[in-house]
Amino acid sequence: MDDQITRVAERLAKAKNAVALTGAGISTESGIPDFRSPGGLWTRVDPGEFSIDRFLQNPSRFWKLHMDLKASGDFDLAAADPNPAHYALARMEQMGILKCVITQNVDNLHQRAGSVEVVEFHGNLLRASCMKCRDLEPIEDVEARICEVGDDIPRCRRCEGLLKPDAVFFGEPIPSKALMMSDVQSQKCDLLLVIGTSLQVYPAAQIPISVRAKRPPALVVEINREPSALHRQVTDILIQGSSGEILTRLMVALESEIQRAAS
Ligand SMILES: [Zn+2]
Repeated sequence: MDDQITRVAERLAKAKNAVALTGAGISTESGIPDFRSPGGLWTRVDPGEFSIDRFLQNPSRFWKLHMDLKASGDFDLAAADPNPAHYALARMEQMGILKCVITQNVDNLHQRAGSVEVVEFHGNLLRASCMKCRDLEPIEDVEARICEVGDDIPRCRRCEGLLKPDAVFFGEPIPSKALMMSDVQSQKCDLLLVIGTSLQVYPAAQIPISVRAKRPPALVVEINREPSALHRQVTDILIQGSSGEILTRLMVALESEIQRAAS
């Protein structure tokens, strides 16, 4: 594994437009199980509750379920903290090496670790958005209004529109701005870090395919506990194991590579 980490550090140090694509696997070490895995959200709640049709039919029922889940402590994203993998990516961005993180996660942990350029394919469950004017506010503010005022259908502070968690619900499209941003980043990308995603869900899975099909192709580095569904097709370097541990070691190798190049 040391050889692979050294190779990736050498390439990262020279990359002009490195991009990371992350999925649920990067957050499991923060104590957030993959929604589909044992202990994940979909084993506690019917995923149908997170469909846009059902939400619109009965928003007060959704918000009650939301508050019950939070109160149970079983699924409180706000209580989870970023782990070394999130911090390593934020540090790479500060060093000017990583241009952005494209994530399938809705847990806000990249931003909390300090990443600035974050493209969220599936939105963010730590924000609420107004379905009318698209104004955003922290979900904890909405939760506080529900608790204090007994507001069973929380409304937008600006326009009284219906508030919904700012995550993509079943039946909703991927936000067009996220798609556009990821296209722009894929065009420029010369090194893609694929971390903690099985590459089974599109459009995220399209990104490594696109960056490998370009001329010249980007280098695709995959860091996963289990190889992704597309690893034979798209992955140049596969490093298997804990993303927190691998990215910590990669940062050490990267910093010494940069020092070596500078001296
Ligand atoms: Zn509004």
